[in-house]
Amino acid sequence: MASRRIVLEGQLCSRAMALGRARLVHPAHFVVDETPIGPRRVAPETRRFEQALADARAELAALRDQLSGPLMLELGEMLDAHALLLEDPAFIGAVRERISGERVGAHAALKRERDRLMAEFEAIDDPYLRSRGEDIEQVIGRVIAALYRDAEERIDPASLAGEIIVTDQVSPADLANWHEHGILGVVTTGGNPLSHSAILARNLQLPMLCGCQDALSQVHDGDVILIEGEPPRLVLHPDQNDQARFQAWQAQVARDAQRLGRLRKAPTRSRDGTDVALWVNAEREEDIREAWKLGAAGVGLYRTEFLFLQRAGLPDEDEQFNAYAAAVRAMRGRPVTFRTLDIGADKADRSGLALAQEPNPALGLRGVRLSLARPEVFAIQLRAIVRAAALGPVRVLVPMVANVRELRAVRAMLAAAVRDLASAGYELGERISLGAMVEVPSAAIAIDGLLAEADFVSIGTNDLTQYLLAADRNNDAVAGLYDPGHPALAFLIERVAVAARGAGKAVAVCGEMAGDPEFTGHLLRLGIRELSMHPSALLSVRQAVSAIDLGAAA
Ligand code: PEP
Ligand code: MG
Repeated sequence: MASRRIVLEGQLCSRAMALGRARLVHPAHFVVDETPIGPRRVAPETRRFEQALADARAELAALRDQLSGPLMLELGEMLDAHALLLEDPAFIGAVRERISGERVGAHAALKRERDRLMAEFEAIDDPYLRSRGEDIEQVIGRVIAALYRDAEERIDPASLAGEIIVTDQVSPADLANWHEHGILGVVTTGGNPLSHSAILARNLQLPMLCGCQDALSQVHDGDVILIEGEPPRLVLHPDQNDQARFQAWQAQVARDAQRLGRLRKAPTRSRDGTDVALWVNAEREEDIREAWKLGAAGVGLYRTEFLFLQRAGLPDEDEQFNAYAAAVRAMRGRPVTFRTLDIGADKADRSGLALAQEPNPALGLRGVRLSLARPEVFAIQLRAIVRAAALGPVRVLVPMVANVRELRAVRAMLAAAVRDLASAGYELGERISLGAMVEVPSAAIAIDGLLAEADFVSIGTNDLTQYLLAADRNNDAVAGLYDPGHPALAFLIERVAVAARGAGKAVAVCGEMAGDPEFTGHLLRLGIRELSMHPSALLSVRQAVSAIDLGAAA
């Protein structure tokens, strides 16, 4: 029925179309259901509340165990206060009483009790005591989140196969899990094309549309929907023309793949003969196999955190070694660059490593900061990488470096891992090069000092753009300010390229712009000769390089 056709605009995260049936995954946390419950729901709702309380207590205890040093002093007291509330019989009794007496579900009961407590705090004269109301809000928020984590886990991912998910937002961990279970695409009402979920969707070549604000209110379970890239939009109840466009697109993709396929064996060289090294960003075995087939120089960025994000708890040394070893073997002698753990900010994890409630996570304990704060966890990762280096050339790349001291600390830990493994009788490979990501402006500005310590550098333009322009890469409201073409970014890239060349050290760009053929000429003109991107972009970038005349451009 053509008349039912509705078009909703969004932003494309991954270049592809998808046609299929919608499956709604509701953003349950935001809907407080105040509908009265019947007497038979009282006991199950009370049990849900008690389970969420137990989960929140366990989370707090785990968080406390992870704290050390100055963080312990700062946060320990707050966590103790939170834990006390979760044990407080008056609070627990009041919520139970609301479920049974006011006949509402666990979420509504918690919300009502929170509102009452907050009102009491608001009335206190002393500003310090009044501000402690925030603790109440946070700790009850934790219990509410635990209620819904339980609900989310009840979705059987196997039931999502062959469907297009429509939801509010998606974490990289859920996206990877759903992809493994064969979903066709994802539409989110929030989010932004530079989020880690969007990057992952591109790497997985999974169609994804974000910022499609009305999707959850307009689409129903089982509706046929079409994700389209040009223009980026969602078509609800697509008509015959839409379906014909989808089929034409599929045929075009096959033709393009054939055409680009001819470039698989070609060198990457500009029209006037400058060689450019193309590396891949990879985290899955398929990416790595593909990288080798595409003639990539190597893996320029292996985001090891994906190993940590897809599971609860931490992977041990052997599990990490097996994953890293598989990558090294698959590259058959070409280097693999393992970026050490970059958890934190929007890469929230289920391992419990990152702090759950940092006020400003992008500026907080992420990347190398977290690794150095948790040396016992980091040492295991370094040992696993050093063991994998016995199987082929390996480089280590450190994320979020803000000063040279951090890189020196990593070098010392890497050396200790090599020493320990050697004395334990492990066979070791060649010397491992240690590089720094340049993604914090201070690293780019003080690049000479960093180059004195680093064997190579790789410019992470995703984060460098966000920190340089003070525009959160995940915040739709400032998406217009997040501009990788900004002259300030060009200035820093050129500065780093010139300094690295002067110091005789390799420099690459590994952010998303490296895989965008629109930026290929720009980056080459700034002096960049190494680019690392997801494998699906490599042939298009090779083609873009071959069309550039660098002499003419200069
Ligand atoms: C970057 O910041 O550009 C980068 C490559 O790292 P990530 O996107 O994983 O933060
Ligand atoms: Mg980064």
